[in-house]
Amino acid sequence: MAHDSCFAWIVGRFKAYAPVVETDTFTYDSPDLGKEVRLMNAVARFRPQAKERILFAAHWDSRPWADKDPNPARRTRPILGANDGASGVAVLLEVARVLRKSGTPIGVDLAVFDGEDLGTEENPSGYFRGSSRYVEWMGEDRPIFVILLDMVGKKDLNLQWEANSREQASNIVDLVWQEAHELGMCTILWCYLRNSAFKTKDADYSLAADLTGQANHLGVTIEADIIKQKLPEVNGG
Ligand SMILES: [Zn+2]
Repeated sequence: MAHDSCFAWIVGRFKAYAPVVETDTFTYDSPDLGKEVRLMNAVARFRPQAKERILFAAHWDSRPWADKDPNPARRTRPILGANDGASGVAVLLEVARVLRKSGTPIGVDLAVFDGEDLGTEENPSGYFRGSSRYVEWMGEDRPIFVILLDMVGKKDLNLQWEANSREQASNIVDLVWQEAHELGMCTILWCYLRNSAFKTKDADYSLAADLTGQANHLGVTIEADIIKQKLPEVNGG
């Protein structure tokens, strides 16, 4: 079955790179699928004895229904999951390959979760089966922090601060973004004003010098590297 062979492939890749690979099989009785499904998590552990650990995770399942597809005829079909699911796993496999070469000063766990995307509005408990299971499974040995990768393979990818992380762990978000910045990734911010109230019969004040200046100031405050702005054409906004 495709589910088994895909999992076996991921575990095989993990084993090629990590000294310890653990797997966990569990079940979920899905009302939407009308059956009990077997789900599987795997984790590749680098420096398995280290007490200080960080966790990178992704989900490897893909949604069985493309229920948000603009085309209603496709909404009952499964999504292919190249981006929503597989892209995060691909990053983890590359991290595993690099860690095998470079080693790591602290413990690193790379986990792939199953059954993350089985929920619906009627049955939200179908979401996050694998990650919930993993949290139970790891018990008291919590990592210092977790980085979750999902939908990172889209064309013209535009990564933004994730709102919950920003609220709950802003120090980690800052750490990751600073590191990305040092590696040459940058933030380009469009600081255009978009409010129809600025447009009057006399002038379009969204192009006023003081308003565009304030928008630029805000962009600088949140540390954009490049700010895109329209040239001011009027005064007195
Ligand atoms: Zn996802």
